[in-house]
Amino acid sequence: MTMPAPSFYFPAPRTQKFCSQCGSSLTQRIPADDSRIRDVCDNCGAIHYQNPRNVVGVLPVLGDKVLLCRRAIHPRYDKWTLPAGFMELGETTAQGAERETQEEAGAQIELGPLYTVIDVPYANQVHFFFLAKVLSTELNPGPESLEAGFFSKSEIPWDDLAFRTVSTTLEHYFNDQPSGRFPMRHYDIPWPVAH
Ligand code: ZN
Repeated sequence: MTMPAPSFYFPAPRTQKFCSQCGSSLTQRIPADDSRIRDVCDNCGAIHYQNPRNVVGVLPVLGDKVLLCRRAIHPRYDKWTLPAGFMELGETTAQGAERETQEEAGAQIELGPLYTVIDVPYANQVHFFFLAKVLSTELNPGPESLEAGFFSKSEIPWDDLAFRTVSTTLEHYFNDQPSGRFPMRHYDIPWPVAH
């Protein structure tokens, strides 16, 4: 299937009005020796490239249960998610995943191997989820979460999960669980699915 998703699903491109080098207004055009429209500064010549963002997260496991957080922020307010968020400058994917787990759930974890890598081209994102062992039942969800808790497969609010990358990671975890083997996998979510 090659039909693109309807354009109204796509997030608005990240626009930048002014040059961060010289403060002049930017124009959108294809620079010489390029094939894509970029934000270009005609004053100082700077080209402001935009590239996909990395989202890093954790699948925290405690016995036969996994840790989920209920979102206190938009988008997907009130929906359940794995601890995850945008990577910060200067940190590794693993450090970002641990930081997000601390911020959103206040959970003590031992980070394990990378488990899923999920391309989300329509949102210009790549999501990385690490497996982790939860070391204590004590949770301390931060301001980005309404609550956090542990769920077995049958307890997971499958219809109220925040993101496809979360449901994909959870589905494959519970498919792997009987075998006790959790190899890293790569997925594409090429177009959005209505929630
Ligand atoms: Zn400039």
